[in-house]
Amino acid sequence: MDRLKGKVALISGGARGQGAAEARLFTAEGAKVVLGDVLDAEARAVAEQINKSSAQKCAHALRLDVTRGSDWRAAVDACEHEFGGLDILVNNAGIANVKGIVETSEEEWDAVVAINQKGVWLGMKAAIPAMRKRGAGSIINISSIYGLIGSAGSAAYHGTKGAVRLLSKAAAVQYAPENIRVNSVHPGVIKTPMVDALDDDLVAQITALAPMKRAGTAEEVAYVVLFLASNEASFVTGAEYVVDGGYTAV
Ligand code: NAD
Repeated sequence: MDRLKGKVALISGGARGQGAAEARLFTAEGAKVVLGDVLDAEARAVAEQINKSSAQKCAHALRLDVTRGSDWRAAVDACEHEFGGLDILVNNAGIANVKGIVETSEEEWDAVVAINQKGVWLGMKAAIPAMRKRGAGSIINISSIYGLIGSAGSAAYHGTKGAVRLLSKAAAVQYAPENIRVNSVHPGVIKTPMVDALDDDLVAQITALAPMKRAGTAEEVAYVVLFLASNEASFVTGAEYVVDGGYTAV
């Protein structure tokens, strides 16, 4: 119950899907959580539900557009004002895009890069100074199996998720001397609103390629993120964790 006792976490994209599952699990394990999203009402509802079930204020929702540096600074300030500091950042917000190189417009490319790639950098840039004040930190960047392997289509998504993988390793190398760990997580097909919005046949086709022959749940990813966030992972940095039912083992 106390794997994150005394820690404060900031989770982007916390209004639903994996981010909301992480917020629920982290608070159940003793953390205080700030969840930021562009879906204001949904994020508030997640925080309210957590606070109600735990009978104390351990979650706080705010508007965070991960493409805006000023939003990130306000989110880190909120962690410090509401809960006294920042120990854990989960760069979870992301959007899908299933178009190929030729089919992707410049506007679509820029939007995917802004959220999936620049957003991760901005999050780390804002969080690291606050972690320094605590003398340690854990950053978990949510990439994808599509940040490890290619597929036909999803060009911008592959490009950004691959970038998150190496950005995580670069940050891990740079900040290891300051006891700030940085790891990437690479989910396979996970049943969340993101996947629900995709074409059913496409999802069934991709799911069938994993040896476990099923989609994962948001909670199955959240438990891996929890481990990386906790002191149990004190010697783990610069690593990439797949949560994919064996997809990338084939
Ligand atoms: P989801 O769509 O349910 O949740 C994503 C959240 O990010 C949403 O709440 C959304 O509002 C938020 N978001 C989008 N743009 C934002 C912005 N500009 N600023 C702040 N928040 C923003 O999807 P999910 O499956 O929970 O995705 C979580 C992460 O996991 C994403 O980075 C996604 O790319 C990655 N991922 C998902 C899968 C999957 O199969 N679901 C697989 C691999 C990787």
